[in-house]
Amino acid sequence: MATQRDRMDEMIQGKQVSHCSRPPARWRHELKGVLIRQMQIARRVRKLADEIERDFAGRDLVVVSLLNGTVMFLADLIRHLSLPMRLDFIGVSSYRDGTQSRELLLTKELRLEVRGRDVLVVDDILDTGKTLKCVLDKMRELKPRRIKVCVLLEKKDRRVEKVRADYVGFSIPDLFVVGYGLDFAERYRNLPFVGVLHPHYYQSS
Ligand code: 5GP
Ligand code: MG
Repeated sequence: MATQRDRMDEMIQGKQVSHCSRPPARWRHELKGVLIRQMQIARRVRKLADEIERDFAGRDLVVVSLLNGTVMFLADLIRHLSLPMRLDFIGVSSYRDGTQSRELLLTKELRLEVRGRDVLVVDDILDTGKTLKCVLDKMRELKPRRIKVCVLLEKKDRRVEKVRADYVGFSIPDLFVVGYGLDFAERYRNLPFVGVLHPHYYQSS
């Protein structure tokens, strides 16, 4: 039986996923496999929301989401948050049209006042950590009371910057994933699951 400690670790570190299942026929040509199924995501997101709800109870919460990859995750996460909260977005773009990280581009600034408030930064995936490092440095200058970070996915072995997330949905291997908001050249964001692209697909572009 899982101890409370195990459950806490799983919550913070993210559930390990490494096995793929067969993609739906429509996507078999482009995807090597489905890494995280729709139902798995739904269950996990609900758990993250419970945890966040507990940690931010009674606080003046501002959720700051990074566009565009968080679109589905954010929508599902906040619909399970029974807390007073406000929502704002920061636009950052690092993967402009491939899988290689490039110069970070700020496409939208924060508009809500966060000074003295509790901030939850939501991102799709923590990879090298460069994106979140840059965003968190900027956020800290705005003097919020505290900042917590929530990501749907993290690739542990890829970290370059010293950044950690307080809430992690799933911990995944070093694979390029798409779906559930995550794109490749702006495509695949609409997939309801997280899938792995065939490398030949992006290596040739
Ligand atoms: P980092 O700055 O941590 O290296 O990268 C973070 C950003 O890179 C994420 O917000 C995401 O937009 C993009 N990214 C990193 N890994 C992947 C991946 O496997 N698939 C997709 N679609 N985007 C990724
Ligand atoms: Mg992103």
